[in-house]
Amino acid sequence: MKSSEVVVHHQALSAAVRALFSQAGSDQREAELVAAQLVGANLTGHDSHGVGMVPRYVEVLLAGDLLLNAHPSPVMEAGAIRVLDAGYGLGQVAGYEAMEIAICAAKQHGLSLTGLRNSHHLGRIGHWAEQAVSAGMISLHFVNVISIPMVAPFGGRQARLVTNPIAIGVPRDGKPPLILDFATSKIAVGKARVALNEGKQVPRDSLLDSDGEPSLDPADLFATPNGALLPFGDHKGSGLALMCEILGAALIGGPVLSGPPASRRIINNMLTIAIDPAFFAAHGSLDDSITQLLDWVRSAKPVDPAKGILFAGEPERAQRKRRESGIVVDATTWAELEHAADLVGLGAEAWNQHARAAV
Ligand code: NAD
Repeated sequence: MKSSEVVVHHQALSAAVRALFSQAGSDQREAELVAAQLVGANLTGHDSHGVGMVPRYVEVLLAGDLLLNAHPSPVMEAGAIRVLDAGYGLGQVAGYEAMEIAICAAKQHGLSLTGLRNSHHLGRIGHWAEQAVSAGMISLHFVNVISIPMVAPFGGRQARLVTNPIAIGVPRDGKPPLILDFATSKIAVGKARVALNEGKQVPRDSLLDSDGEPSLDPADLFATPNGALLPFGDHKGSGLALMCEILGAALIGGPVLSGPPASRRIINNMLTIAIDPAFFAAHGSLDDSITQLLDWVRSAKPVDPAKGILFAGEPERAQRKRRESGIVVDATTWAELEHAADLVGLGAEAWNQHARAAV
């Protein structure tokens, strides 16, 4: 551990996030949902979508661009289709409630298509896939992000897209689920922020500076004018990001990107397709087929025998095990969190008392 880093227990960190949002005006359930998702992202190793987002949420809240204690309202219901509008409420509440609705409709119809529009940041999208798989559902999520464009389209030198994530969750019988969850850019914006805060470089071939030239310096992404991350898989990731705009937003009446937004808020629109595998049970065991497939794929000779071949969701589970005894937060992020606690009136001292409490 570097001397400037802070190591905290996830339960204490959750208590601090709950205290901060309660002080800001969230009711108890909202504060719990926010803390569970953000600290959950740190636990899975995705610090980009963990408590480091709190300062941005507080900035947007104080600017009057984020609603507390809001719930998504129904816009449309037809057969197995539901469309909800979150009205710029916290994504941790909107996402949770949208998943409850998607799961319920899929249990009734065998599958459901749920559009959630105008939600504030939905955080780690795999969290929503985990909620669906824990109810026995397969789920697919296409998400667009309305924020400052930070991703260049394939063949372009300037940012025109954001990191539009996709997630797919598949439950297993008595085994951990498969959770595939990624940004369509080479790295998530939050990972560049973490690299910047930690004084590290970003991976080669992931970033262009504002002149459209390759860069390793994460500061180039956040400069004015800003640089651009590259899409993963060249034209393939770029194409998927575009489809996230169309499926995740345009189809359900949510906004698509058309230029830099006026507000600093991060809006997510999400299309969720939930499938109840029980409706397919007559066609043989899905889980037996998955086991057969994974055994075959895993039988390939590994490039690195120490690492082996992993499946979606395994790296996050391994991180969770490691981080259950302590989450490391870099000094810059910690200072930003203390400042956010000051801004909402909790105070840096109370923040530290909660977050550093022995558990
Ligand atoms: P990533 O590059 O770490 O990829 C994660 C996915 O790849 C996971 O499914 C993981 O299990 C799998 N994986 C990782 N290493 C693997 C290996 N060695 N073998 C097999 N599978 C492996 O993720 P990312 O693209 O940096 O995205 C990070 C997070 O950012 C995601 O949770 C995403 O939802 C979130 N995100 C959110 C927004 C938003 O606006 N809400 C935008 C972009 C990204």
